[in-house]
Amino acid sequence: METVMDQRHPRTRADLAVMLRSRGLRVTPQRIVILAAILEAQDHFSAEDIYSAIADDNPGINLSTVYRTLETFEQQHLIRRTDLGRGRIVYYYVGRPSHHHLVCHHCGRIIQIEEEVLQPLLDQLLVRYGFHADLPHQSIFGHCAACLHHGGEEEPLPNGKA
Ligand SMILES: [Zn+2]
Ligand SMILES: [Zn+2]
Repeated sequence: METVMDQRHPRTRADLAVMLRSRGLRVTPQRIVILAAILEAQDHFSAEDIYSAIADDNPGINLSTVYRTLETFEQQHLIRRTDLGRGRIVYYYVGRPSHHHLVCHHCGRIIQIEEEVLQPLLDQLLVRYGFHADLPHQSIFGHCAACLHHGGEEEPLPNGKA
């Protein structure tokens, strides 16, 4: 069973192989399947999301293979990782718009912010320290407006959405 086709953006196995090679990655059947699942993900995805999307059709791929493959893809800048706290490690495909996240310690709310919000910080680091910072997908932790205004009495969200 092939899972490489995406109805919205049909990609052949050959297209996926080209994508891998262009990032300096060796092409393996596992990588093709995992890359196809990444491209089909609408937004953020976790290793578990990818694993559950492919597990039925690919019994030979286990969760630790997915973890290792995502790590490799991240090193080659094919996907971007961030740690949203509470064990939530998520990724997005680099073809989607760059952004960062604000994460509320109290209620777990996650607010997606535009990449350029951090630009003044990057400029200051460059001007003051000559340091060219690399901030591809940051999570900034703190307290959201609702929690601040309600003295922390906001009902905690059971599962903050990325
Ligand atoms: Zn994100
Ligand atoms: Zn909050």
